Amino acid sequence: MASWQFPPYAFVIVLATVLACGVAALAWKRRSAPGGTAFVLLMLATAAWELFRVLEAIAVEPAAKTNWARFEYLGIATVPVLWFLFTRQFSRRERAGPGLGPAWLWILPAATLLLVFSNGQHGWFWSEIKPASSEPGAHLIYTHGPAFWVAALYNYLLILIGTVTLLDAILRGEGVDRRQALSLLAGAIVTWVANMAYLSGLSPVAGLDPTPFTFTLTGAIYAYSLYRYQLFDLVPVSRHTLLENMAEGVLVLDNEQRIADINTAAIRLLGLSSASCVGGSAPALLAHWPQLLQYCAGQSETRGETQIIGRHLEVRAGPLHEDKRKYRGRLLVLRDISKHRLAEDQLREANARLQAHMVEIEALQTRLQEQAMRDSLTGLFNRRYLEETLQREIAQAFRAGHPLGIVMIDVDHFKDLNDTHGHRAGDTALQALGQLLAANTRSSDVACRYGGEEFVLALPGATLEAAHERAEHLRRAVEAMRVAWGGTSLTLTICAGIAAYPAHGERADEVLDHADQALYQAKNGGRNRCIVYAADATLPTHPPPQSVT
Ligand code: GH3
Ligand code: MG
Ligand code: MG
Repeated sequence: MASWQFPPYAFVIVLATVLACGVAALAWKRRSAPGGTAFVLLMLATAAWELFRVLEAIAVEPAAKTNWARFEYLGIATVPVLWFLFTRQFSRRERAGPGLGPAWLWILPAATLLLVFSNGQHGWFWSEIKPASSEPGAHLIYTHGPAFWVAALYNYLLILIGTVTLLDAILRGEGVDRRQALSLLAGAIVTWVANMAYLSGLSPVAGLDPTPFTFTLTGAIYAYSLYRYQLFDLVPVSRHTLLENMAEGVLVLDNEQRIADINTAAIRLLGLSSASCVGGSAPALLAHWPQLLQYCAGQSETRGETQIIGRHLEVRAGPLHEDKRKYRGRLLVLRDISKHRLAEDQLREANARLQAHMVEIEALQTRLQEQAMRDSLTGLFNRRYLEETLQREIAQAFRAGHPLGIVMIDVDHFKDLNDTHGHRAGDTALQALGQLLAANTRSSDVACRYGGEEFVLALPGATLEAAHERAEHLRRAVEAMRVAWGGTSLTLTICAGIAAYPAHGERADEVLDHADQALYQAKNGGRNRCIVYAADATLPTHPPPQSVT
């Protein structure tokens, strides 16, 4: 008796096996698509199912047939799980990306295989297997045991969930190519119809389960759609590549604030882990950044800046509409502007430092200017300042037609004070005198230490008489002044010589000279007195004043 036979339908199954392998090869190139790996395995499992089905069909011996039927379960037990995984991943229901799903999914298929291969011992899977007729090579009729029904229930459940998932994806239309999903659904419906037909005994070939063919058919339709639409796929692929290579973070939220898409840059900028992102709720995932959350809500275009993990981010957010009307979600674009901000901050700091330096330099300059025109001991103006100012004051007096009084003062017997109380006592007395002069001059007056213990007052607008009066007032004030020094008090008297512009000269040096002459007249007159310059008075014999060092 021949051990092989070749019924016509065996060729159909061979064709289907080759087709399933071809689809697997085609899908292998596109395995990076969502559910790609599961789909390749699904096609291979289908091919295995069909291959062993062929072997069962062409085997003549019932024992050989039963043996190949066991191997068919390598496909039968795994196809539903792979279909389930594929549809879940294809419709973006699984966040974990391409994988073989949790281990528990595979427990029942593994148990099925175990029971199938050990059926001889217990008969739980098939309680009876007998040929359909007495003809050699007749196909076998399997009477199913309880384990078969458990496995069948599990398989139908998985296939049902997969089909519903597809339907849901089509209805939601999110992130799924509708045409591909529809083609898959069409295939799934054919599978259901074929399976129902087989179970209700309406199979075109008695005892031949057409289910694997339908899976091949579904696969072929999907492969066709992959091929047919690959041109259109190119756009999402290029968009994806673009998104991934962008330095800007891109975040797409659906209308329930779930993360529908996120690129690597956004994951990095927000410190998220890529595995948990897509599908997660934005308010939960971004709870640490309440400022950022503001951009996730609402339907308006917003733009601003926020700080995340020490980075400055520029955030642009706006609504996403479908067909310009229906609100679908929000798009957030994040740009790291830390470097920009840092540079700005550095510039601002440098500017502030520069400003501070400028202020310091200006203050220093003012102080230097002050120091250049002030006498350090008394704080009054110095002689250089007087000489510069006096020319200007006289020019101004000339323009205004005003007089200008000059009072030249010298302390009487100051050497004696130094000799008696010491130089420091003399300094203290000079300081006290300086304060007194400053207190008795107006803002328009110039009080200066002319040298040693000599002082000059320039009094713009003061006539000779007025200047005399002021000098006399000062003389009395000095006379009344007491300077505390080491338990005693020092007293001073002064002499003053008074001259005025224009009465005693047109130029500053002339008027000063005349005041000086009057001063010496006062000295000669017995000290502690004020003398107004008089042209006919005797010439002074007093030495010129010492300069201050
Ligand atoms: P008189 O003017 O009344 O003729 O007598 P005098 O003693 O004041 O005159 P003289 O010009 O001889 O002496 C001036 C003294 O002033 C001499 C000098 O030591 C003193 N003197 C000048 N500048 C300073 C100073 O800054 N501090 C002190 N302590 N003494 C000074
Ligand atoms: Mg003197
Ligand atoms: Mg003197």
